[in-house]
Amino acid sequence: MTVLSSTDRDEAEKKVKSSYFDLPPMEVSVAFPQATPASKFPPCSKYFISRDYVCFKKLLLQSVCYYLITASDYYHFNELLTPEEQAVRKRVREFMEKEVAPIMTEYWEKAEFPFHIIPKFGALGVVGGSIKGYGCPGLSITANAIATAEISRVDASCGTFVLVHSSLGMLTIALCGSEEQKQKYLPSLAQMKTVTCWALTEPDNGSDASALQTTATKVEGGWVLTGQKRWIGNSTFADLLIILARNTTTNQVNGFIVKKDAPGLTVTKIPNKIGLRIVQNGDILLQNVFVPDEERLPGLNSFQDTSKVLAVSRVMVAWQPIGISMGVYDMCHRYLLERKQFGAPLAAFQINQQKLVKILGNVQAMFLMGWRLCKLYEAGKMTPGQASLGKAWITSKARETASLGRELLGGNGIVGDFLVAKAFCDLEPIYTYEGTYDINTLVTAREVTGIASFKPAASRSRSRL
Ligand SMILES: Cc1cc2nc3c(=O)[nH]c(=O)nc-3n(C[C@H](O)[C@H](O)[C@H](O)COP(=O)(O)OP(=O)(O)OC[C@H]3O[C@@H](n4cnc5c(N)ncnc54)[C@H](O)[C@@H]3O)c2cc1C
Repeated sequence: MTVLSSTDRDEAEKKVKSSYFDLPPMEVSVAFPQATPASKFPPCSKYFISRDYVCFKKLLLQSVCYYLITASDYYHFNELLTPEEQAVRKRVREFMEKEVAPIMTEYWEKAEFPFHIIPKFGALGVVGGSIKGYGCPGLSITANAIATAEISRVDASCGTFVLVHSSLGMLTIALCGSEEQKQKYLPSLAQMKTVTCWALTEPDNGSDASALQTTATKVEGGWVLTGQKRWIGNSTFADLLIILARNTTTNQVNGFIVKKDAPGLTVTKIPNKIGLRIVQNGDILLQNVFVPDEERLPGLNSFQDTSKVLAVSRVMVAWQPIGISMGVYDMCHRYLLERKQFGAPLAAFQINQQKLVKILGNVQAMFLMGWRLCKLYEAGKMTPGQASLGKAWITSKARETASLGRELLGGNGIVGDFLVAKAFCDLEPIYTYEGTYDINTLVTAREVTGIASFKPAASRSRSRL
């Protein structure tokens, strides 16, 4: 008897069923005509009346209802923003709805990056965030945060792409680089003519990042880097890689700018992710990579020096789940009014209304917490514990939000085309990166109790229990 390999078996099966194998999927608006897919994002900043809804309401209540389609404006958040911040918000929102919404599901499904949109992001005037000069926009932290939220509202992967490049890579050069390095690299990075990434995490050092083991050894004219990095966003195509490594002379963490074609540098994509699938996360191998003296960041001389960068990036990461949750609300709101069951819109059922309002309440609270965090930062008063509490609490509420949204969309809640499934998955890595939920709560707990609990108590030889 011939035993077929699994590949041969699959091929044989395909031949037998060739009538429907290899057919492209049906266009989602044809396959499911009752609701609009997320490629047509709900237009925001408008009040309007849904004809279906009005008819239904007239029937039941004999009244006409106007409703807001955007969650973010329910408590009139725009009034908290300056005209500059409002303009940034509008610009980014329009760009994301027009350019990214139509393509994001396809790229998310393929786990590929849409390289053609990089110059468009570069032209948006938000890359480089709060950095002043060197061709950067010099936004307020609030404007930067609003931009992060508006990008993530439509696609969290794009939010991560910009955040890693701008609030980690570029900001490290801006805060820790020499004047020559800033002049040499920041203008091109601000326009996204070049892309950067930020490499701290290692296979053996995730939450315990400050114990990193990649080494930097001083040699004539420069440094030799040896070690491994894991999870580094944008690294598979970044032109410049910011690598954090331990100086073998001082035992302190230093920072280096490594070019993508440096001999001894290998970057490979981490496949099979369940979230942020558009983001290209890489494993980095550094085998005696030579870095000239002029590419060492002179202002990064200990792990403590990264805290200036992480203070900003943690606030920005906290705004990603705010944006994601706004998108989830907007999508659920539209879906519940469009989709009918038992002769009525899903929005007419009390249980659905309650879930929708729970999402709405979450979004309002998240926004206010994120906004206050920005104001504390801008006043020079934000502590690491406050930033950590914001990131931890907001991501946990966003997880609850996406989970409720997923329920509200029924079967379509597990299909990327209606956004909520994608948001649900994208929140998982965000819950973990930039400090996991647990680690961030411990940072806050250390601040409010004065007791650090990161390291387990020394194991005793005999238990007292
Ligand atoms: C999609 C994605 C993108 C990323 N991008 C980047 C990037 O661009 N650059 C970069 O440098 N890194 C990046 N990271 C890495 C990220 O910061 C780490 O994944 C994160 O810090 C957690 O580390 P870990 O995955 O090794 O988990 P671990 O540290 O192994 O933790 C596993 C679990 O144990 C818990 N735990 C660990 N220590 C403690 C403790 N002391 N007390 C209580 N609980 C604890 C954690 O909370 C977690 O639940 C990225 C990660 C992901 C998933």
